[in-house]
Amino acid sequence: MTQGTEVLFPTSANEAIAQFGDGSGVTVIGGGTIVMPEITYGRMAPTKALLLSRAGLDTLEVDGASVTVGAALPIGRLAELAEDVTALAQCALNVADYEIRRQGTVGGNVCAGEGHDAPRGDLQGPFLALAAEACSVGADGERTEPLDDFLAHRAGRLLLDLRFEKPAASAFAAIDYPHTHEYTVLAVTGVRTTGGETRLAATGLAGYGTRLRSAEAASSDPEQAAAAALKDVTVGDDALASGWYRERTLPVLVRRVLSELEEAA
Ligand SMILES: Cc1cc2nc3c(=O)[nH]c(=O)nc-3n(C[C@H](O)[C@H](O)[C@H](O)COP(=O)(O)OP(=O)(O)OC[C@H]3O[C@@H](n4cnc5c(N)ncnc54)[C@H](O)[C@@H]3O)c2cc1C
Repeated sequence: MTQGTEVLFPTSANEAIAQFGDGSGVTVIGGGTIVMPEITYGRMAPTKALLLSRAGLDTLEVDGASVTVGAALPIGRLAELAEDVTALAQCALNVADYEIRRQGTVGGNVCAGEGHDAPRGDLQGPFLALAAEACSVGADGERTEPLDDFLAHRAGRLLLDLRFEKPAASAFAAIDYPHTHEYTVLAVTGVRTTGGETRLAATGLAGYGTRLRSAEAASSDPEQAAAAALKDVTVGDDALASGWYRERTLPVLVRRVLSELEEAA
């Protein structure tokens, strides 16, 4: 922390909420794998830092078909859901390396904005595909809303947890290379809900993760869905890959995920 930083170390969720207040001037730190390097390199100088590591938000609750993931749960612990929510566990195990997965939190990953030279926020994909609801607090109190809505207005809010129903099936496909230092170039998650709906989402494009709504509408024909996916996204260049490359590989991942979902049916 910098010399003038007030460090807040809540020991319960209620204390974290009280100390966060209306969020003004507060920098939330989950695992700090993004924030701490920013501070070290002088790109960020928080006046107040709210550390969540002892706030009791590192919970993972499975109650029948409902799953609630606390915002400060270490990413690696999502592997415990491998049987019921395969895609989420696979995506989590694909994030970075063991040290980052142990230190980095679900909330920090989901709330991570665009990286300087690589995509971040891989978990947004599975949570969007799972129709997760985000519970957060901010100036207007507590709110539970679809993750897409939370991501669109997340500034000034403290994420408390994410809730979703176990799917009937799920699949995850990603592109990463040794030279990408554990970052994921592009990923697609597919979910078949218990009601038979197919939901698709992608990360690694530009900005936050994106639902692939046109591809979902064509999902009964994987070839058509793969082509339609390009209508749903804005691709970007970064240090890992070009937009050109991402445009060519997104349809491949969509096809792969849809065939896996079909096999699981
Ligand atoms: C070598 C390396 C490889 C990496 N590879 C990947 C990868 O493959 N995929 C990937 O997605 N990321 C990757 N990352 C980026 C990052 O480490 C992870 O995204 C990690 O999950 C971030 O979580 P954190 O808890 O450490 O975030 P933090 O640094 O604590 O926070 C990140 C952001 O989220 C905000 N925040 C944190 N918690 C909350 C909350 N509860 N409510 C509101 N805002 C909150 C913070 O204020 C900050 O803006 C990598 C990083 C490194 C160093």
